[in-house]
Amino acid sequence: MGTNLIVLGSGQDGGAPQLGNRSSVSPARSASSVAILGSSGAIVLLDASPDIRLQVKALLDSPLYPENRERFIDAVCVTHAHMGHYAGLLHFGAEAAATRETPLFATECFLSFMEGNEHWASLLSQGRLRGTPIDHNLAIKSIPVPHREEHSDTVAFSVEVRREPWLLYLPDLDDWDTWEAGESQLSRHDVALIDASFSSLDEVPGRDMAAIRHPLIPDTIQRFRHLTEETQLILTHINHSNPLGDDTAVIAHQAIAAGFTIAHDGLTISFEEIP
Ligand SMILES: [Zn+2]
Ligand SMILES: [Zn+2]
Repeated sequence: MGTNLIVLGSGQDGGAPQLGNRSSVSPARSASSVAILGSSGAIVLLDASPDIRLQVKALLDSPLYPENRERFIDAVCVTHAHMGHYAGLLHFGAEAAATRETPLFATECFLSFMEGNEHWASLLSQGRLRGTPIDHNLAIKSIPVPHREEHSDTVAFSVEVRREPWLLYLPDLDDWDTWEAGESQLSRHDVALIDASFSSLDEVPGRDMAAIRHPLIPDTIQRFRHLTEETQLILTHINHSNPLGDDTAVIAHQAIAAGFTIAHDGLTISFEEIP
């Protein structure tokens, strides 16, 4: 059996629809998260979203999920301290999760953010989570990326299979111009899940988009369409306002015609290992 990834959530931090939003969004999206199911049987979550409870239920129900496991997952890796990426850690507290000592891989900056804030600190002090600064000998490595540093720094994750880079998970980025290594990081992976929050600067009325910078889809298509033969580029972290999330929208057709994949909750990608 090979290595698999399941996109547990393909939405921006607030999901789609967002809280209090009556309009229907199709398809609905939970906040960004990915499960890696390694060929050795290890299962790791990339990001702990506020929707983790139903996301992990979907993971447990997947035909790819192995039977008779002691822990439901083996570790959680967190990219940064924005709500959509770590709020789900609360479910590892005494009120909920049946496991203890779940390894939490994150940057030292993120771990000290947790230690400085109750009730996050108690998840560590009570041994519910075992905070571990990211170790670069791991098969999952972190890559620093520019993204507004309100509570912590931000990383992307590179997942290796047989010591070769396979998956890049990059849910949040300010813009491609401020990340010089961006193109080389995309091209060295077989699969890259990349920030596709917004298509245009006017899609969220009343918000100053300069304060919530993200790459825009037309720019991402233009820059990286030449990579799509070599790297499967998957657009994720899609904001509820982004027409990309609607399969029938012009921007969605343009992205697909340029060779990109648009993520949806449940999207599964397999890496078949040659024995
Ligand atoms: Zn985010
Ligand atoms: Zn963020």
